[in-house]
Amino acid sequence: MTDHISFLFLGLGNGAVYAALGLALVMTFKSSGVVNFATGTVALYTAYTYALLRTGEFMVPIPGLPKTVDLGQPLGVGPAMAISLVVAAVLGVLCYALIFRPMRTAPVVAKAVASIGLMIVIQALIAQRVGTGLISVEPIFRLDSFAIGDRNVPTDRVWLAVAVVAIAIAALAIFRLTRFGVATEAAAESEKGAYLTGLSPDRIAFSNWALSSVVAGLSGILIAPLVALNPVAYSLFIVPALAATLVGNFSSIALTVAAGITIGALQAETTNLQSLYEWMPKSGTAEAVSLLLILGFLVLRGRPLPDRGSVVRKTLGRAPRPNNIAIPVLLSLGIVVVALLATAGSYRAAIISSIIFAVLGLSQVVITGYAGQISLAQLTLAGVAAYSVSVLNQHLGVPFPFAPILAALFATMVGVVVGLPALRVRGLPLTVVTLALAVFVEAFWFRNSDLNGGVDGSPVDTPRLFGIDLGIGAGESYPRIPFALLCLAVLTAVGLGVAWLRRSRLGTDMLAVRANERSAAAAGIDVSRTKLFAFAISAFIAGLCGALLGYQHSMATPEPFTVFLGISVFAIIYVAGITSITGAILAGIMAPGGVLYLLVDRFLGAGDYYAVTSGVLLIVTVMTNPDGIASKLPRLPWPAWNWKGRTEIPVTAAIAAPVPVSADPAAPAFAVSGISVDYGAVKAATDIGFEVYPGEIVGLIGPNGAGKTTVIDAVTGFAVATGSVRLAGESLDGQAPHRRSRSGLGRSFQDVELYDDLTVAENVRVGAARSHSELPIAQRVSRTLSVLGLEDLAEREAASLSQGQRQLVSMARVLAAEPKVALLDEPAAGLDNTESRWLGQKLRSVRDSGTAILLVDHDMELVLTICDRVIVLDLGRVIASGTPEEIRAHPDVRRAYLGMPTDAVESTPESRAAATAEQEASL
Ligand code: ATP
Repeated sequence: MTDHISFLFLGLGNGAVYAALGLALVMTFKSSGVVNFATGTVALYTAYTYALLRTGEFMVPIPGLPKTVDLGQPLGVGPAMAISLVVAAVLGVLCYALIFRPMRTAPVVAKAVASIGLMIVIQALIAQRVGTGLISVEPIFRLDSFAIGDRNVPTDRVWLAVAVVAIAIAALAIFRLTRFGVATEAAAESEKGAYLTGLSPDRIAFSNWALSSVVAGLSGILIAPLVALNPVAYSLFIVPALAATLVGNFSSIALTVAAGITIGALQAETTNLQSLYEWMPKSGTAEAVSLLLILGFLVLRGRPLPDRGSVVRKTLGRAPRPNNIAIPVLLSLGIVVVALLATAGSYRAAIISSIIFAVLGLSQVVITGYAGQISLAQLTLAGVAAYSVSVLNQHLGVPFPFAPILAALFATMVGVVVGLPALRVRGLPLTVVTLALAVFVEAFWFRNSDLNGGVDGSPVDTPRLFGIDLGIGAGESYPRIPFALLCLAVLTAVGLGVAWLRRSRLGTDMLAVRANERSAAAAGIDVSRTKLFAFAISAFIAGLCGALLGYQHSMATPEPFTVFLGISVFAIIYVAGITSITGAILAGIMAPGGVLYLLVDRFLGAGDYYAVTSGVLLIVTVMTNPDGIASKLPRLPWPAWNWKGRTEIPVTAAIAAPVPVSADPAAPAFAVSGISVDYGAVKAATDIGFEVYPGEIVGLIGPNGAGKTTVIDAVTGFAVATGSVRLAGESLDGQAPHRRSRSGLGRSFQDVELYDDLTVAENVRVGAARSHSELPIAQRVSRTLSVLGLEDLAEREAASLSQGQRQLVSMARVLAAEPKVALLDEPAAGLDNTESRWLGQKLRSVRDSGTAILLVDHDMELVLTICDRVIVLDLGRVIASGTPEEIRAHPDVRRAYLGMPTDAVESTPESRAAATAEQEASL
């Protein structure tokens, strides 16, 4: 037992660094919304500065100037630390001023990509200035030890942990007790919040960047005597630090620091267990600690669908629909073949690398560009396939082309496992999970001598088909044309497949999930399945890329698949254009070892500064094109070439009226009983019951907070509720939202959850896709658009619509599915009186076609004029129900509506008759 405890103490040093870096990450995230991947390298830079100062030298980071300045004599611990921390603070301020301040309004991913660029620049600068050799640093804390059982534990790591906890307590005190702290918390919510405290968000961000750099730098200095300075280890500290930050939900300092220290301690204990138990894997167990912690916390805390009101941020650009691609594909193929034939040696090798990385780009387009899941594990999945090809070749004798296909299928399985957390976790936390998985797979497999072929490596056989050698060759003939053509064939097939995917229903489902998971589920899309399909397809494509990389190197080795390379490649794909096929191909050209790389290296002669320059270019490009370069390229109007799958929606071929749905008018279309919903102590709905008959519009009204939306959420499966729901006699209890939708229960959302990246027609099409109607989808889309007067907007992007138009599109999406019952949550919000009356007529004609409607709205004139019956809620209970006349006269309703405009409730028979006559006239 004492043995285990002593190992836990040994891990305190690393744990303290994770905690400090986690603290720095929280500070920069709170003040500027940046997940700073460069935090580990800031610690590294400060530690190098300190180490050199202790030997009497100062590192000069400016290219062109001498690498170091001799100070004449070594500095003591105090002065060296003070100067290094000032340097760290200046570095933090510069990063914010030059990069992240101009990117204030950029998407979170764009900022994260810029921080990846920063990480590359700092790492490259250090390598260029002082080399990458290990540097040892003299102890800072007094060397001493204490005994736990029969083991001696050095005291330095305990002091390090104490120091970090002290810093965390100080940070907590600053955040809780000072105006600056309160302002930072307020800035995390909104810029306006910060202004209310009297401090400018800019000053808050500058101070936080300086402070977070100092915290990161200090941890770098303090760990330097314990872990010899080296660029890779320090940069990789970011992963457990991110894990700690996730446990603290990117906001809690105390939880983050506690998690960081715990991860360090547990990692040390796993190394102990490794030596005790033979069956434990040789490597990867320490990495598994962060992974399991992240998974445990996030998956337990996560939800299958985001909560109501959770912020939906548009983080990715529009994914264009590939039209008329035959001519550009043939033209590009011609150009590439000519280029391959006309080149040799390193130029041809660069073209081949570009082709292979374009395949990886396509895999990222599917998972991120289409499905909106930011995975940093794609290159790792490629590595899985490369190693699998080797195993299939060497141990099972499986030849080409079966080996690469099976390997890609194995990568697909791993990809689905990588994607499993996405069923409960989304956004930034998911990205960190994929990163932690990538780190784990690299350590557990690629760097494990039991699995990676040891010193001999993992050879990959030359691909041969019908006796034809498709290998890359060696010596004079390297790289051979047949291999280049093999890569080109794979890229073409995958590219066409991805183009088809974008045009398919699955592709539209992915874009709907990317845009808004809640309304995707309401339209009948199985969000979990769609995400898993996206992970599977993208992993298969990444697997094909990995197999090609294996053949390219004739060997599976860890280097082409490291996590850092994976992060850099992700950044390149993002900058090139992560939402389009063109972007993926551009990413191939820009990839490491690709055509651009070679040209820059040969003609611009960046030489020593290549890595620095490419990092700077990455930052500048993402700052100037946060949506990717491909989105800025002109879209050439290629003529169509008999594309069979082309299905333009014939918006003009509109049918005037909806087709009536037959139903028994005596049986309720929709019956709800005993519905209760509690949000903690708030009883949002209590024992609600009602019925809606076919051909009926039932109003559900009540003051703000009465529980109307909660009832809709409960019956559609979006809120956890008790009670029972029957649709056309069938029980929907326990079913997921998409299943209820597919059974014929349509709903719209109060906050109009449209798919902003899709056009109006595409939005409606998503709704229409799962109807049981016999009418073709395209016709239903065009008819619904026509009924709601939206034909002219069919090709407009939803994000560009006015509030009123958005309401109508949201309704169109529900109605296009021809639901048995449509639950409409405040469809008239944002409409003026005339528009609202017009909407009333449309709802009546929908009702007349047989669709029952439950209408929630605050427009009393609308509700009381068009509804057949009205149910009134107050404080989560039904307080009245009856005809509009009965409701107007009901004393409890008058009481519940006190403080609301009562003229509608009290409108006279004359005013109602006038309203009805006006509506009928305009019909
Ligand atoms: P409005 O007309 O303003 O839309 P509503 O009648 O639709 O109001 P609900 O939004 O259903 O009312 O809210 C009912 C009650 O439940 C309110 O007190 C609200 O604050 C509470 N509530 C709703 N969602 C949640 C949640 N996720 N967590 C905690 N309380 C909630």
